[in-house]
Order: sequence, then C-alpha cells, then structure tokens
Amino acid sequence: MRIVALAGGIGGARFLRGLLAAVGPQDEITVIGNTGDDIHLYGLKVCPDLDTVMYTLGGGIHEEQGWGRTDETWSIKAEMKEYGVGPEWFGLGDRDFATHLVRSQMLTAGYSLSQVTEALCVRWKPGVRLLPMSDDRVETHVRITDEQGTRAIHFQEYWVRLHAAVDAEAIIPVGADTAKPAPGVLEALAAADVILFPPSNPVVSIGTILAVPGIREAVAAAPAPVVGLSPIIGGAPVRGMADKVLAAVGAEATAEAVALNYGSALIDGWLVDTADQASVAAVEAAGIACRAVPLLMTDVEATAEMARAALALAEQVRK
Ligand code: GDP
Ligand code: CA
Repeated sequence: MRIVALAGGIGGARFLRGLLAAVGPQDEITVIGNTGDDIHLYGLKVCPDLDTVMYTLGGGIHEEQGWGRTDETWSIKAEMKEYGVGPEWFGLGDRDFATHLVRSQMLTAGYSLSQVTEALCVRWKPGVRLLPMSDDRVETHVRITDEQGTRAIHFQEYWVRLHAAVDAEAIIPVGADTAKPAPGVLEALAAADVILFPPSNPVVSIGTILAVPGIREAVAAAPAPVVGLSPIIGGAPVRGMADKVLAAVGAEATAEAVALNYGSALIDGWLVDTADQASVAAVEAAGIACRAVPLLMTDVEATAEMARAALALAEQVRK
C-alpha cells in the first residue's frame, strides 16, 4: 500500500513512528513535510519540522524535548553568546548544527532542498520517503499587536520567543503563493492508496503545506481516501499552543471545529479522541465519516493503534 502523510514536527513525527510500527515492509510511506517553519540563523538554513521527522524516525531525537538531538551539548551557542550574537531564544545544539551546516553547504553548492533532504536521510534512514512540501522558500509569519504596534514576526519568534502569549491576528505563509510543490509531491498524492493528516497543527503545519498552490487541489482530487486525526483533545491541544493559531483562522480549539475547518471537500474521514465522542455526530453531519478512539500518543504501540484505526477508517470510506 502507498501511504502519503502530510506532517509538521513533533505531532507528525510521533504519529509517523506509530504508523511505521503498524504497517508491513511492503507498504511505502511518503511524507510531505512542512517547511513554513524554516528559519535562517547564523547564515544557516534550519528546517525544524523536517529535522524533527528525520531525527525521530532515525533514532536521533531528544525524546523528552521532542525536538533536537539526543545527548546534545551547547558549546557553539555559548561561544556565540560571548560574541553577543543571538538569538538566545532559539536552541541549536552542537550536534544539530552539523545538520544545518551540511544542508546550507549543499544548498550553496546548488542542490535543491529535496536533494539535500534525501542526502541527509541517507544517514538517518527514516524508513519513509521524506519530501519537503516545496523547494522554494516559504516562511510563516504571524501578525501581532503589542506595545511596539502592529507588525508581522517570524513564526519561530512568535512560537519560541513569545510562547504564543500574544494573540495571533493573522498567519501569513510568506512565499507560499508563488511556491511550487517539490518534485514528487503531486505525483505521490495522485498515486496514493491512502492519504493521512497526522495530529499535526492544522494551521501552521498542515495548513501551510496545503497553502502551496496545487497541493490542496491534489489532495482533494486524489482518488485515495483522506483521513485525519485530531490534534485537539477535550478542547485543548495535547501539547503546545495550537489554540492560538486556530483562533487566527476563526476556528475554535475543538476536534469538531478542526474537522470542519478542513471540510468534506478535503477529508473523507476524521478520528477524534474518546473524550470527544459527543462531537462524532456533528462531524458526520458535515459529510465526514467520524470515529472516536484513544488519540494520546503515550508510546509507540498506542500510536500504532491510532494508525491502524486511521487505515481502517480509510477502508470504510474508500469510494
Ligand atoms: P510541531 O511542528 O512540532 O508543532 O508539530 P506538529 O504540527 O506536527 O504537531 C503539533 C500538534 O500535535 C499539537 O498541536 C498537538 O495538539 C498535537 N499533539 C501532540 N501530542 C499529541 C497526542 O498525543 N495526541 C494527539 N491527538 N495530538 C497530539
Ligand atoms: Ca512546526
């Protein structure tokens, strides 16, 4: 079976680890990764979501943190601080730096981001084909109003420095309107047997991928069933601050609102947590098949069970 999943960082990566445990060796998984979180720091291109997927599936992730490398050290950051060079709020460890150095060196030499990602995956062997959503530069910005007035700041500054404490007035994926899907993205969607939306952030992870012209259309037009899993349980994101960016697109932080925000034109099936059993009828009334199952990714086996439920629902809604 050919499975295509759209993925952000931590939520996407953890789900994919469960999916890999649930499928067999004959199944092929293609991951279309969000690059709207990318940021240039110290002259290096950093791709947080691609790296989180790569490190998680490749066994190099810092488990408790959910991002960055295991057994990390911070000498470079300390040295930069001595020079008064920031940003101090963004954590790049020494081992992680090597990834960004290799990536930036290859990009400077003329390789595309998809070629670079493939090269990095030769080391990490994630067990999936990892494609960036686009080789073109896209950077999500967030419009906020604070004591300095109304302005747009980089998503990382909003998320990591401000911890989304200020309201997000608008989410702008700068560059998305002219970006092209990376080689293989549209082909993978057209040839998929199943398309999955992991419990990634629906606005700044999945939403940004869908903002690349052609990708939303390709998901909607794909013959494969499209099934998503709710990142919201009991009215709150399990981890992180997804409610802040949902508000910016006028959606409540509920499993039902996230499903309706994708809409029946895009998704055929939706999984909510058993805590949200009461929202199943409303999602189904909107033309989306819905089931309530446990959606907490407490360990790989619990996550594999979520993946099996998503694949089972895909079979039920297959046209
Ligand atoms: P990011 O790029 O690192 O923010 O990661 P993603 O966009 O891939 O996923 C973030 C989302 O994962 C958050 O909005 C959470 O709501 C969701 N999430 C995290 N852990 C769990 C979990 O155990 N179960 C479910 N259903 N969602 C989760
Ligand atoms: Ca992210």
